[in-house]
Amino acid sequence: MGKRSSSPSKAAIVDAWKDWLEWDLDEPRCFACDKPAYSDYRGNNYRKRWEQAHLEKAHIIPHALSGPNTPDNYFLLCSECHRLAPTTAYREDFLKWAKAQNYITRRLETIRSELNTFLSDPKEQEQFFKWSSHLSYDDLKDMLSKHKDLFTTHGSSMPASTFVAMLVRIWREQTAS
Ligand SMILES: [Zn+2]
Repeated sequence: MGKRSSSPSKAAIVDAWKDWLEWDLDEPRCFACDKPAYSDYRGNNYRKRWEQAHLEKAHIIPHALSGPNTPDNYFLLCSECHRLAPTTAYREDFLKWAKAQNYITRRLETIRSELNTFLSDPKEQEQFFKWSSHLSYDDLKDMLSKHKDLFTTHGSSMPASTFVAMLVRIWREQTAS
């Protein structure tokens, strides 16, 4: 006892939420948005995989609102969800929020708002969508390698703004000719 101030391990948090999580525990993911989390551990022990997954321990009821350091008062979240999560004394509000998160929808919404930035005309957006719906992943890779002196990534990921800006420019180029 007397260790009240230390937070539980990630594995203990996963154990506390086993029944709530709707996917295979072998694959660490953000508890809220389901985004897969990278883990440095490559073995078969799922608890170790979670322990080393790139997820943040987030209080459900914040410490400042007297939330306890018990595993069931924690969630494992990606950094984006951690930034967006509610900080209230109402546990059910946190869980309601968590249930509503979806990283694919979030990504698409980002793309939609970036599209409004780079291509604001609704008619053009429609034509752009028609054009882009015929693109394959290989087409995208081709475009990126062809334009590698103009567009790049942040490490291994491409920001949505780059993705949209690049596609809109290529679309304009192809429809102008
Ligand atoms: Zn998340």
